[in-house]
Amino acid sequence: MEQKFFLYARKSTDVEDKQVLSIEAQLTELRAFAKQEGLHIAEELIEKQSAKIPGRPVFNKMISRIEHGDANGILAWHPDRLARNSVDGGRIIYLLDCGHLAMSKFPTFWCENTSQGKFMLNIAFGQSKYYVDSLSENTKRGLRQKVRNGDYPSQAPVGYINDSRTKSVVVDKKKSRVIRLAFEKYAKGESRLEDISNFLAKNGIVSRGGKIISKNRASFILSNPFYIGLFKYGGERHEGKYEPIVSKKLFDKAQEILKLRGVPDRKSKNEPQPFCGLISCASCGMMITGEYKVKKQKNGNVHNYTYYHCTKKSKTIKCPEPCIREEELNRQLSSLIKSVSLPQDWAEELNRLALQDHKKSAQSNSAFVEEVKKEIKSIEVKLQRLLDGYLDQVIEQEIYRAEKSKLLFKKKSLEEKISSLLQKQNDWLEPMQEWIKDAQNLNGIARDNNLFAKKVVAKEIFGSNLLLGEKTVSTAEGGAPNSFGKMGGNQWDALRASHLLALKKPLRSVLVRSAGIEPASQDPQSCVLSIERRARNIFL
Ligand SMILES: [Zn+2]
Repeated sequence: MEQKFFLYARKSTDVEDKQVLSIEAQLTELRAFAKQEGLHIAEELIEKQSAKIPGRPVFNKMISRIEHGDANGILAWHPDRLARNSVDGGRIIYLLDCGHLAMSKFPTFWCENTSQGKFMLNIAFGQSKYYVDSLSENTKRGLRQKVRNGDYPSQAPVGYINDSRTKSVVVDKKKSRVIRLAFEKYAKGESRLEDISNFLAKNGIVSRGGKIISKNRASFILSNPFYIGLFKYGGERHEGKYEPIVSKKLFDKAQEILKLRGVPDRKSKNEPQPFCGLISCASCGMMITGEYKVKKQKNGNVHNYTYYHCTKKSKTIKCPEPCIREEELNRQLSSLIKSVSLPQDWAEELNRLALQDHKKSAQSNSAFVEEVKKEIKSIEVKLQRLLDGYLDQVIEQEIYRAEKSKLLFKKKSLEEKISSLLQKQNDWLEPMQEWIKDAQNLNGIARDNNLFAKKVVAKEIFGSNLLLGEKTVSTAEGGAPNSFGKMGGNQWDALRASHLLALKKPLRSVLVRSAGIEPASQDPQSCVLSIERRARNIFL
């Protein structure tokens, strides 16, 4: 007699079933198994109920149809899909005993229709209750399925919609634009979280109660990596299948500003002063902090001051540094910022050099792309090894998750690098020209009274290299002309190093090339060349 199988898949909301394969995954695996084994499937039966107590409708119907001879075999993922109680388990065994059922097959469990096979099956039914508690084949498959899918299984954040039809996350066209604009706005460093909340409200993004969202909520949105395509589920970072709406670069920038501006929860009285967290003490290395003070004179006049001073938290050094008024600090910072701004003639020459080099280097970047692709490949290999190690239980879950998250973030950055390289045809020219404009604008920012904007710019230019000693702000290293790289090696560093190099000459003469008269390192034009080379490498 030909064997006909019922394919039986079951998934319930039982806690212990949580890690079991989805119906969809069970069907995929079972169909593949049937094909491989050459099994004839009479019908696919799907149950969405717990098997803890007897009385499942689809299961009961299947049993009576087998008794009628509609089929004589059952194919299921594991015995625990068929029964988690002794009654239903017993019915299967009985059907095997009296010959209605000739065969029950499971990809994860091997048993023949012999007395020994039935004995094993009986034990499997008995063990089913405990089955999912251990890290089993089930968990492995379930995990792989999840990782493969890249589907976000929960409520998507604002800017996305859960499409119930396809059970996937899709971009909300209108709101995603608003979210991206909010990121851009905040990343400029000129908006507070309140401003972002207001901006979102103005564009229709409000709390569930229809109110303007809180600072905390705004901060949460601005730091949610979901927007760059990485989501967290079950404590683990995953790559989403959905389209990211914010670039990793923009996201990183926003994170920097969030850090700079401090946590949103502080009371307004102790609100950090604009220049806090920017400068270290030259004597003891501790942070310089700001303090707001109100002085009342006897004649009734009230004066407001903001002072900056060393936090004096060092336990080994007794710090003698005095405090400094905000006005004075502002004046000094402004002149430091001014000192690295780009003179008009330098800017013109830089633009010319950049255009010239751009022509030359347009084709030479494919090797670079290949390099990054190799790096991504190696991350993928690492991810696979990590997953294998985790599934083989050589790597602990905590370490697995932390490492995976790290690798995914890195991969994201690299992928972005490639796509921007390919899309823009290796176009570093535009950002470089942007930067030249920014550098020219420094004078304006230095003159302006927006202290927060000044702090953002100072942080970008000087990193954490600003020191305050004897009421004077200076940069960490001295005036050595070839100090490029000591301050992070960014384009500002290049510009600053070039300024130092040019100090010996009046600016006017910098661009008048007197060929061969001076050694190259002191040739003023080499200043501009050195900015160009270094900056271009940075923008590449
Ligand atoms: Zn100090």
